[in-house]
Amino acid sequence: MIDSYGRKINYLRVSVTKRCNLNCSYCGAGTEKCEDGLTAAQIEKIVRAFAVNGITKVRLTGGEPLVRSDICEIAKRISGIEGIKKIALTTNGIRLAEYAKALKAAGISAVNVSLDTTDREQFRAITGYDMLHKVLEGIDECERVGFPSLRLNAVLVKGRNDDQAEKLVDIARNRKIDVRFIELMPFSSEGEDGKHIVTGKEILSRFPFLEPLNESSASEKNVAKYYGAESFIGRVGFISPVSEKFCKDCNRIRLLSDGKIKPCLGNDTVFDLMPYIDDENMLNEKIRQAILSKPMEHTFSCGYAASHGMNEIGG
Ligand code: SAM
Repeated sequence: MIDSYGRKINYLRVSVTKRCNLNCSYCGAGTEKCEDGLTAAQIEKIVRAFAVNGITKVRLTGGEPLVRSDICEIAKRISGIEGIKKIALTTNGIRLAEYAKALKAAGISAVNVSLDTTDREQFRAITGYDMLHKVLEGIDECERVGFPSLRLNAVLVKGRNDDQAEKLVDIARNRKIDVRFIELMPFSSEGEDGKHIVTGKEILSRFPFLEPLNESSASEKNVAKYYGAESFIGRVGFISPVSEKFCKDCNRIRLLSDGKIKPCLGNDTVFDLMPYIDDENMLNEKIRQAILSKPMEHTFSCGYAASHGMNEIGG
């Protein structure tokens, strides 16, 4: 569906839970014990209504999607929906080694693993848990299982893990894995004043040998700028929503784990679908309204103080 600013909205991000088994400093408080909100059947129903309105790609996120024991059932249900061509997953990787094979069988073709550091002590300081080894095992298992797309996403925070760019870029140098740097957004006290952000440009300047690539697919081109070098097997990507807004090309809409639609990551307007969960026509109508109300751009630069944590929205 085309929104009020002429953008084609075809990508839905679904936060399947706000629970997480990590507690990253820049994200939101860990909420391991709360309820999941939507059931697998409700998620299927809502995604079906989104598909009627032009959504072709779905990403499962959270919280941590792999803390839901029915995550493969959710993926399977979505893969059966007419019009959905691609299902992707964003995960912190802690449970990925156990789930990778089943996720692929359930229809997931692309996995993004969040990895901010290769240093065990830094990982513990950022996430609150000594579990770097689990994430690394998960990444290895994904390579073995053979997902068509495997990417790592890193958020560098000044004074915390900004010494990690070289180590992370080395992964793209040596393995068929894309490594992407996402700018810190204002969703926690660490991100709010903008002082800890490491911009994509700052990181890129440390790698003068990286050349821009033109090969990005249409859907990727909107968000990440990719770079490579002759000796590199993977690519290095930069997602810079703060220093280089890409709102004019945004094709996304978000479903929160409590059944609310969030048309823009950097704007607090939400549309609650729960009162209409059993009424197909009203679901369609509310989804159309939400897409048409997507604002022209986010307001991070105006000291945005988010009413939903990143752990609720899912990135
Ligand atoms: N638990 C999953 C994970 O860790 O990938 C999915 C949810 S997490 C909220 C999704 C992504 O959002 C992660 O890559 C995380 O690094 C990113 N993220 C969280 N807070 C952020 C912030 N303040 N700025 C930029 N990215 C953020």
